[in-house]
Amino acid sequence: TDKLKTYEYQTEIKKILDIVIHSIYSNTDVFVRELISNASDALEKFRHIMLTEESVVDKEIPQEIRISIEKEAGNLVIEDTGVGMTREELIENLGTIAHSGTAEFLKQLQKHPGESAEIIGQFGLGFYSVFMVSDHVKVITRSYKPAAKGYVWESDGASGYTITQEEGIKRGTRIVIHLKEEKKEYLDEEKIKEIIHEYSNFVTFPILLSGKKINTIQAIWTRRPQEIKEEEYTEFYKFIANTESEPLFRLHTSSDAPIQLNALLYIPKENYEVFGLNRLDPGVHLYCNKILIQSKVKDLLPEYLRFVKGVVDSEDLPLNISRETLQDNQLVKKIGKHLTKKILSTLKDQKKEHPDKYNDFWKQFSNFIKEGANTDYENREELAELLLFESSKTKAGEWTSLEDYVSRAPEDQKEIYYLTGMSREELENSPYMETFRAADIEVFYLTNPIDDFVMTSIREYKEKNLVSADNANIKLPKKEEKNDAEGKKEEKEKVDDKEMKGFIKWLSKHLKDRISEVKVSDRLVDSPALLVNPDDMMTVHMQKILEQAGQ
Ligand code: ADP
Ligand code: MG
Repeated sequence: TDKLKTYEYQTEIKKILDIVIHSIYSNTDVFVRELISNASDALEKFRHIMLTEESVVDKEIPQEIRISIEKEAGNLVIEDTGVGMTREELIENLGTIAHSGTAEFLKQLQKHPGESAEIIGQFGLGFYSVFMVSDHVKVITRSYKPAAKGYVWESDGASGYTITQEEGIKRGTRIVIHLKEEKKEYLDEEKIKEIIHEYSNFVTFPILLSGKKINTIQAIWTRRPQEIKEEEYTEFYKFIANTESEPLFRLHTSSDAPIQLNALLYIPKENYEVFGLNRLDPGVHLYCNKILIQSKVKDLLPEYLRFVKGVVDSEDLPLNISRETLQDNQLVKKIGKHLTKKILSTLKDQKKEHPDKYNDFWKQFSNFIKEGANTDYENREELAELLLFESSKTKAGEWTSLEDYVSRAPEDQKEIYYLTGMSREELENSPYMETFRAADIEVFYLTNPIDDFVMTSIREYKEKNLVSADNANIKLPKKEEKNDAEGKKEEKEKVDDKEMKGFIKWLSKHLKDRISEVKVSDRLVDSPALLVNPDDMMTVHMQKILEQAGQ
């Protein structure tokens, strides 16, 4: 009859099919992602058509994706109530490899500026991924066009396909996948649920698995911030970070040029990388039109921001045909640089607006920011703004910033001073502090071994050099000579020049293996002598650390 027609695949199509089935994808799970993406595209197209066309078939049926499992028959069924396909479309789209009806739809759409659609397909290959797991696929479909009839397309994915016309088919597409003997694992509802959660969780249309909606969390990152409720932000965070607690800070940003992107990023309350035992994986996932491309992307944010959680979505990602990798990693780097700046400026704003919350952040994540200060040369000015330390002008356990230090310092103070040691107590009692205290000059107290490296990496802040208080070349502003009650200058015991020269000679001789030079100094107030460090790069404390590490 003319109701059943058989079509043979041409030789080159067979070859391409073979490649799609055996070589493109690293993981057979992705056929679920591909079929759901097609269903979503079909529904999105239908949504568009509804805007302009009056008469469509089965107008009233809900727009959704339904997945069911026929255990006995060994079938997985994926169906949608989207645009469906006519006989011609079946032949063009499913009978020809690398022909994308969706790409054509997008081309048509571009002729109507102002209209946009969230469309996933583009390569015309995804459908065939189903033959990685199936030896027989039935596509039962009816187009939305009022005159269209229903058809059944069937194929084993090897020799060819048949198309039969059938009555009683509703609008949309139902795909019945008979699973290969060794792929029966896809008859397990839990397995299918996991795959959907991983790749397709944020598809716009409801996905029902055995009648239950499973994509309940929305892709809120595509919406405008003013339309999103606080609870929705929190709910999304809990989902994406797989946690019960609330986030500390959030950054929701989008841009159109030079690259389209939406990002929703969070900073957690807790640092799970305690004691360096369990190094965190990167926490940001990359999406293209709400479909997962890469989870925990490595080359996006710098490593020191691995505590940041969230999603980045860009339509402009240059996907390779498997949708598992990108053809141009430079673009990801560019997005990453942009987002890094955004994250750092968000933190800076929070520090200003919510100092208490920022203190909480610092308690948990100071080491990450310090790691950044040591490694991210490009952003070292932004990172310097985020640093907090104790100082000679804070109480024990309280922090201050470089910015506050500078605001307190006399205008003619050209340098910012710090001193490193094991504890605040040690630093307070250090002989190096005597002159600073006497001159009322603030000194940062650094007690974390990494701090020393941080200061050397940052080097300067607002054009003031960061200088270790044990440095030999420090010239403090002359302190005011104290006057006594009668207004007479206090008599200072002067050491005779000649006597001093003899003493220096004697010292140099006896300590010659351990010091490089002896100098007369007016730096000290109470202590008789001080070892100073001639090295601009390494403080005494850092040398001690390196010695201990056997360097
Ligand atoms: P792509 O999605 O990249 O275009 P596919 O191989 O996944 O490529 O699909 C090929 C074409 O088949 C699609 O472009 C679309 O025109 C059509 N198609 C596939 N699945 C459906 C569906 N569920 N409903 C309607 N059309 C579909
Ligand atoms: Mg597709």
